[in-house]
Amino acid sequence: MTAVLAVASEAFPLIKTGGLADVVGALPAALARQGVAVRTLLPGYPAVMAALHDGEAFFRFDDLFGGPATLIAGEAKGLDVIAIDAPHLYARPGSPYVGPDGRDWPDNGFRFAALGKVAAEIGRGAAGLPAPDVVHLHDWQAGLAPAYLAYGPGPRPKTVATIHNIAFQGWFPSTLLGALGLPDHALTIDGVEYFGGIGFLKAALKFADRITTVSPTYAAEILEPEGGVGLEGLLSARAADVVGILNGIDVEVWNPETDVDLPAPFSAQTPGGRAASRGALLARFGLAPAAGLIFGVISRLSSQKGLDLLADAIPTLLDLGGSLALVGSGEPALEARFRDLAARHAGRIGVFIGYDERLAHLVQAGSDAILVPSRFEPCGLTQLCALRYGALPVVSRVGGLADTVIDANPMALAAGVATGVQFNPVSRSALETALRRTALLYADGRAWAQCQANAMRADVSWDASAKAYAELYASLAR
Ligand code: ADP
Repeated sequence: MTAVLAVASEAFPLIKTGGLADVVGALPAALARQGVAVRTLLPGYPAVMAALHDGEAFFRFDDLFGGPATLIAGEAKGLDVIAIDAPHLYARPGSPYVGPDGRDWPDNGFRFAALGKVAAEIGRGAAGLPAPDVVHLHDWQAGLAPAYLAYGPGPRPKTVATIHNIAFQGWFPSTLLGALGLPDHALTIDGVEYFGGIGFLKAALKFADRITTVSPTYAAEILEPEGGVGLEGLLSARAADVVGILNGIDVEVWNPETDVDLPAPFSAQTPGGRAASRGALLARFGLAPAAGLIFGVISRLSSQKGLDLLADAIPTLLDLGGSLALVGSGEPALEARFRDLAARHAGRIGVFIGYDERLAHLVQAGSDAILVPSRFEPCGLTQLCALRYGALPVVSRVGGLADTVIDANPMALAAGVATGVQFNPVSRSALETALRRTALLYADGRAWAQCQANAMRADVSWDASAKAYAELYASLAR
């Protein structure tokens, strides 16, 4: 059995701020079915320590960047976890990254260098455990692990670095180099140096044996200046080692046949059950019962997600007879804009500003279509849930959205394989065209039903993804 040490700053259900946690939390079970044993190394935040109450201390660092640290292993909410119990770094309430003032913790460089450092020690078998075959690190927070392995003594396991969102790169001043335990000669273009400082993600991409990201199209996009956000040169030089592996979703949690948040179950065989959710959605958002399309949005409200374009396109959406149910939170200006739209178009636009997982299920089940007009999207999970719930995704043709939705163009419709609508470029007018195309498709009841059935039958589980990761690990071991 291949043994993998996964290294990350979040894992659902222990600690989550975004999609990274979903991936890190879901992969171990899916990989176990492929013969891969995963242990997950996490910072010992209060939530992680609380879940690890039966954990066993097995190794101690006398000084891990300013204080002692104990490694604790055990089972926590279904995950095989190793936590770094280092109160001086992690015993803080709230978000893993920012303090109560909303700013990054000033010692984040040390907090996450510690994650990489411990991963490297476990990786080379120097922390009281047999060395794993592969160290799989996620995002910049774990990014120094392969650098510590490269500059440290002894054997090196194989390493895989996964990019979940290249916009977050972990840059710190070069003055930290010595304090982080890295040698002076590491501060070069062939080392950890990045724009005059220390780049955690840069280090990962420089030293990891393989680089993955969460969709094939995003893997291509990050080789270009616009998508690579400064790292495109390094990634292009390593293009042969870069691979895109799509994320999945938990098809038990997202199962319209058993979902307790829906008024009635439904499936690809019994799509009629959606009608009850549609009615409940109208009631919940104060929308007038109408024959027109109900568009749903479940999203962070940030410029990445392109929802300013949707706000601009509202006149078109309304002209087409559509309604909008939006669940989201984020940038105050966008929150205010959608609140205002709801006030001005009561009965046609309903918004819930906040994070509500259960409401997200109802919006997926009751909407006819789910809008995801992202400017960039490494993989995207909302459209995968939408496929499974038979809400046709209307998406920009970027990143994972391009890879997971089959556009209802004449050829795809004739072949009976379409699952949604794509548009390109990411602009207001292209989005408006997509809204019109969606309305036309909706008006053709048979074609719509065919797309809906295709969507609901699409494989959005973790199985294919886990197989691809397992093959990647195996190829490294050979
Ligand atoms: P990102 O990680 O960039 O926010 P993803 O699509 O990869 O985007 O994952 C976000 C997940 O969180 C999706 O499943 C989405 O439906 C869900 N989500 C986003 N905002 C909300 C919200 N306000 N309430 C409930 N679920 C939300």
